[in-house]
Amino acid sequence: MTAAASLEAMIDVHALRQQFPILAREVKGKPLVYFDNAATSQKPRLVIDALVNYYSQFNANIHRGIHSLAEEATAAYEATREAVRAFVNAASREEIVFTRGTTESINLVAYTWARQELKAGDEIIVSGMEHHSNIVPWQMLCAEKGTVLKVIPVTDNGELDMDAFRKLLSQRTKFVSVVQVSNALGTVNPVQQIIREAHAAGAKVLVDGAQSAVHLDIDVQALDADFFAFSSHKVYGPTGVGVLYGKKELLLAMPPFQGGGEMIKQVSFDGTTYADLPYKFEAGTPNIADTVAFKAAINFVNSIGKAAIRAHENDLLAYASERLKTIPGLRIIGQAKEKVSVISFVVDKVHPQDIGILLDNRGIAVRTGHHCAQPLMQRFGISGTTRASFALYNTREEIDALVSGLEKVIKMLL
Ligand code: PLP
Repeated sequence: MTAAASLEAMIDVHALRQQFPILAREVKGKPLVYFDNAATSQKPRLVIDALVNYYSQFNANIHRGIHSLAEEATAAYEATREAVRAFVNAASREEIVFTRGTTESINLVAYTWARQELKAGDEIIVSGMEHHSNIVPWQMLCAEKGTVLKVIPVTDNGELDMDAFRKLLSQRTKFVSVVQVSNALGTVNPVQQIIREAHAAGAKVLVDGAQSAVHLDIDVQALDADFFAFSSHKVYGPTGVGVLYGKKELLLAMPPFQGGGEMIKQVSFDGTTYADLPYKFEAGTPNIADTVAFKAAINFVNSIGKAAIRAHENDLLAYASERLKTIPGLRIIGQAKEKVSVISFVVDKVHPQDIGILLDNRGIAVRTGHHCAQPLMQRFGISGTTRASFALYNTREEIDALVSGLEKVIKMLL
């Protein structure tokens, strides 16, 4: 048995599926095949139970209360912060800021660190395969401050052109914001190398980990990332919770993002002082329930282990890639050497949306369109793709259902 096969054998998919209540349902009279995991993953019962438990046992506002419920809620909320710290191997819990999601985490850095540190003529580098949430905040900043956005080109097989990246780097480069795993192509980018080279040029780096946190082992210290952003809902956790990791010295020097309760030490009309890290960045009542339940998701992932998850998902990716290639007229967009379990494809003379609708009639959920990565679609000269993205609970049988569904759907549409 190969190492990969032995790890794969460690996942009992059929037992795991029992832990996800939604997977038992039917859609349009057919068993649900959920292949839209890059958009959001389904939730295990442990996470759903943690939400119910919070609201039925210790719902209270956190940090300020001295009664028992407030103390329990605060302890649970802060326990998730510690779980996240360990999940990404941050040095301290002060470096873990809770947000609404990756989008808000990136905006936080754009509105605070970048607004304070960057001036007209400074350059920010993003890549051509970014999600809109790692493009638009920087464009808004450029419009406001006169900073300049530079873009790392994407090669024909869907990888970053690293030589071009090196040419873009200069002493004007002050910030690099790059996605670790592309949501539209599945490409795993060499972020460690990007960080090393950006640092050598004197720039800070944000890693968009929205798609990587669920598949790859994340070690922000080994990466030496200045900022790392991801969302709970793509890691089997609830929606409405995100994480911004930031190096302590950077967070300390940054101004607050929003003003309000929780983020202050002392308020008077003569002036206000701000709370210590990480609370300086967490104004107002946060999303307590979902944050508390996020810990159950992290425990769930840890209990299986990323290596076993990856081995299973890599098997699905290889199997699906081989099977999809047999469909006439189907072209996979994104053939990077390093990929996670995302397959984007186009079919000659067929619109992705038609494929999506007809697959849904067969109970198969895929994503169609531009995947919030319009510049990437423009790069490939297409308006969108059909995307199947796999999670630890997906099976080869489901891929067989996708392939036979596609064959029938394409026949109907041509
Ligand atoms: N970045 C990437 C690569 C994504 O895939 C996504 C969501 O799909 C985001 C950022 C935005 O994440 P959220 O919508 O959770 O803020």
